[in-house]
Amino acid sequence: MSNIQFAFLLYILILNSTITLFKHTFYDITTKNRLTNNKVCLIIVDGLRLDAINNMPYIQNLIKTNEAKFSISIADNPTISRSGYMRILTGCPTDISGISSNSQHLPSPILGVPQLAVQYNIKTALCGYYWIYELFPFAFYFKRIYFIRDGTTFKNAYSIIDEYEPDFLIVHPMSVDNIGHSYGGSSIFYFKEACNIDNSLKTLCNKLQKHNYNIIITSDHGHQNYGGHTNYEPNTFLTPFILISNNLNINPPLYIKQIDIAPTLCDLLGIPKTLYMTGNSLINNKDIVYLRRLHIYDFNRPFDYNLNLSILITNIILLIHLIVYYYIICLIKKLIK
Ligand SMILES: [Zn+2]
Repeated sequence: MSNIQFAFLLYILILNSTITLFKHTFYDITTKNRLTNNKVCLIIVDGLRLDAINNMPYIQNLIKTNEAKFSISIADNPTISRSGYMRILTGCPTDISGISSNSQHLPSPILGVPQLAVQYNIKTALCGYYWIYELFPFAFYFKRIYFIRDGTTFKNAYSIIDEYEPDFLIVHPMSVDNIGHSYGGSSIFYFKEACNIDNSLKTLCNKLQKHNYNIIITSDHGHQNYGGHTNYEPNTFLTPFILISNNLNINPPLYIKQIDIAPTLCDLLGIPKTLYMTGNSLINNKDIVYLRRLHIYDFNRPFDYNLNLSILITNIILLIHLIVYYYIICLIKKLIK
């Protein structure tokens, strides 16, 4: 056996063991899927702060008549769009995902709900700003994205529902955020735009309900009184969370975390949750707690501690494998001679 053949064999063995090991360690672990036939529409009204719903009569009526469950969603720092989309769609805190700036034009390093849905043959669709598409580039069967200003988001959403009837649809209008940046979150223009969006939401939700969709309405962040949302204050980190579902009997707490939305979406769609989802599902959290207990060395320690420990253990196992492979190959070489 020549040195080149030997090196090639060693390379294949190392590659094989690396892939196998990493596939079954911390990084890829998900809960089991429990298929439902639910259709889900997630509406992210960009930049909608909590008190804006006082100017949204349709939303107010849903809450009053108990047709919708209402909670207050608390966003982590930073309260910016890209980090918000990540938290809503991966359930992973920004400290761990690393997506902490709007200028990070990267695909999500963490498996998100759209990708999990695709893996389980769920028809996905996006109707919104291209940053969401950038984060999850191969995760939407149907898409209508805009690059500068939206204006046709709701119209596009209607046509996507009529033409494709996706199982998981994201609708993401931007006008409230644009007005917030131009005039401020306490301006009359901002509250007027919230009222306009409320009208569009009414038409969209009526259509969605006719098609038996479960609907979540929420936002990535709020707005400061004088506009912008980079200061971490209640006006920027508190946003509404509305859940409209005919076949769901749950009572979510008044305050939820933004990272609770992704595992909740998973339960609605009947797809697995990932261990990166460090929030809690509002529907059923037993599976993820069980999985965390099984795979996390110390439940009370911070997530990054457990992640680092997992990486260390993986590397030690990898090293042992390499040594064993080396001796096996030496043995084979001797036998061939
Ligand atoms: Zn935003």
